[in-house]
Amino acid sequence: MKEKKILITGASIAGPTLAYWLNHYGFEVTLVERAPGLRLGGQNIDVKGPAQHVSHKMGIEEIIRSKNTTETGLRFVNVENKTIAEFPKESALSMTQELEILRGDLVQILYDLTKDSVEYRFDEHITALTQTNEGVDVAFSSGEAERFDLVVSAEGIGSHTRKLVFENEAKFNYLGLYTAYLTVAKSDTDSDWARWCNTKGGIVFLIRPDNYGSARASITFTAEEDEYKGLSLEQQKAALIKRIKGCGWESERLIKEIDQTKDLYFDRVSQVNLPRWSEGRVAIVGDAAYCATPIAGKGTDLSMAGAYILAGELFCAKTYQDGFAAYERKMRPYVQSCQKLPPGIPKLVYPQSKIGVKILNSVVSLIASRPVKWLMGLFGGEKKAVKEEIYLADYGNEFAAELKNW
Ligand SMILES: Cc1cc2nc3c(=O)[nH]c(=O)nc-3n(C[C@H](O)[C@H](O)[C@H](O)COP(=O)(O)OP(=O)(O)OC[C@H]3O[C@@H](n4cnc5c(N)ncnc54)[C@H](O)[C@@H]3O)c2cc1C
Repeated sequence: MKEKKILITGASIAGPTLAYWLNHYGFEVTLVERAPGLRLGGQNIDVKGPAQHVSHKMGIEEIIRSKNTTETGLRFVNVENKTIAEFPKESALSMTQELEILRGDLVQILYDLTKDSVEYRFDEHITALTQTNEGVDVAFSSGEAERFDLVVSAEGIGSHTRKLVFENEAKFNYLGLYTAYLTVAKSDTDSDWARWCNTKGGIVFLIRPDNYGSARASITFTAEEDEYKGLSLEQQKAALIKRIKGCGWESERLIKEIDQTKDLYFDRVSQVNLPRWSEGRVAIVGDAAYCATPIAGKGTDLSMAGAYILAGELFCAKTYQDGFAAYERKMRPYVQSCQKLPPGIPKLVYPQSKIGVKILNSVVSLIASRPVKWLMGLFGGEKKAVKEEIYLADYGNEFAAELKNW
């Protein structure tokens, strides 16, 4: 492929992973990030399945392991903070994984790995782009203009470049929830276990340990799609406080934290469905193209696998059109399987009434009980199973073998 100069937008997980692999295959990569620096906020994410496989290939698996959040498993607690069910990390039902890392730590690792070989530009974003037979003419917010052979947006769910190129083609499948993440000071009630608490009003509180002496909280609750849209940070804080006030458990602790935090991420929980992932010389990767939401627990898998496959296919293809088409052909079935949520999820997990919460807690407690664990063990379902979710070709070697036979 003769097109070698590539612009990527978005320095989170998909963007730097793509930059690493494109650079590895000999492309010249520039990466622009809208924020003035890396955005290091967020809770634990897990590096498993395809994400672990890609990390291993990048030589960062052990660095990720060394940044483990120390979480030993998941406890469901009631509003009195009494444990009603416990799933250690070895259990198939625990969300705690072998490689559990703070999102910000992974972003930093990916940046450190690529910063010397990739040109990073912060505080910069695309304001306009024009495609021609020769390339993509890009105008930036700084006033600079430059021509690239190809552009890839890795800008996350609210991608602006996606809007510029695909207009209104992206459809959002709103799951009926809003979620907030924030870092909180550690309290006596925190331990190495993640604690999950359902309260009345369709709210789930989750507090997880981190490796920095603090803790990471998320608050997820049912709401109408536009209920909290377009709010300023101060308005978001006020709305959150109003929503959780009087709910019990550790809501008073979290209200104090929300009041003073500068590190709040608050957004709707929506999946992204885009009927195609490229238009001419512009492609799209990660949450911007196929966000599955934190409910699916597949954000890191999808963004790292997608970036790996896109880079590999561009490297092997004779034309960029072929490369983009192969990327989509290989990734789309995996995206569809990740976006499929089990029946009743997420609705069943967010009961509104006290009695609904009680029923849910009884069900969770039953699932964690010895007889059920024993039964699951009989069918091989109690331990985490390792299965290949998507085939990740060894592009460099396979391409070399192909050339040899040519
Ligand atoms: C601050 C933050 C906190 C998060 N916390 C969690 C969490 O706790 N748990 C969880 O499961 N998921 C979290 N996520 C989402 C998670 O990172 C993604 O689901 C997943 O990893 C896919 O990553 P991505 O690289 O495709 O997109 P994202 O991680 O969403 O990153 C997109 C990047 O693009 C940048 N960007 C946006 N618009 C532009 C533009 N026009 N030009 C240039 N750059 C742009 C953003 O600043 C961001 O750095 C968080 C995302 C962010 C941004």
